[in-house]
Amino acid sequence: MYIDSHCHVDFPQLAENVDAVLANMQQHQVQKALVVSVCLEDWPRLIQLVEQHPEFYASVGVHPGYDEVPEPTYDDLSQRAQHPKVIAIGETGLDYYRLTEPLDWQRERFALHLQVSKDLALPSIIHTRNAYDDTIAIMKAADSETAGVMHCFGEDWEAAKRALDLGYYISLSGIVTFKNAPQVHEVAKKVPLDRLLIETDSPYLAPVPYRGKTNEPAWVLHVAEHIAQLRGESAAQIAQATTANFYQLFHKAQTL
Ligand SMILES: [Zn+2]
Ligand SMILES: [Zn+2]
Repeated sequence: MYIDSHCHVDFPQLAENVDAVLANMQQHQVQKALVVSVCLEDWPRLIQLVEQHPEFYASVGVHPGYDEVPEPTYDDLSQRAQHPKVIAIGETGLDYYRLTEPLDWQRERFALHLQVSKDLALPSIIHTRNAYDDTIAIMKAADSETAGVMHCFGEDWEAAKRALDLGYYISLSGIVTFKNAPQVHEVAKKVPLDRLLIETDSPYLAPVPYRGKTNEPAWVLHVAEHIAQLRGESAAQIAQATTANFYQLFHKAQTL
């Protein structure tokens, strides 16, 4: 049994076909999926979808790449996080890929999410792109006992160790199935089995053999199989470990 720890099933490509998405999950032993929030404008649609389907959990947060949305307040995040199906804060973090300085607003938004995560003891879902040093610095400054997950990990093993040292988990996406990602392959081999999560980030980043197509939670199976191959372990071992890790980190899901 697998869990997709990061997907965007509320996006139209998938939401419009949710019955097929759920059927495909069931067929591939993908029992649960965490539907990750990117902006509060989409929140009503996201939470309604998650309420309708026991297979889905939710997070609440505003993605660092969303520069043209109102800044979320502490209450915007903390009040939505009270919902019984909201098990995490995010996605949050830093993304310097497309945007240019000044990006103080992005760093402040990230720190706010980590404050809510700390106060509510709900794990954070971290997105980081072209901004790793600043991301780690803000995580350290938050000085929180509540860790989180580095989602869609694309950095090298040295970088992974810095997050692991802070108690964070590493989540691998379809990138691990790509031939041109040797540094992610190395991370997949070296990350301790009790700190590993798997995800699709669907509808993006479809793994081999679906590369270039619309991704969906069922294909987390291919992520797991590829990691198993790299590590010389069985897919069943990866399934068992990543499912246990999911409930360990996202502890509120245990109560549902
Ligand atoms: Zn992301
Ligand atoms: Zn995402």
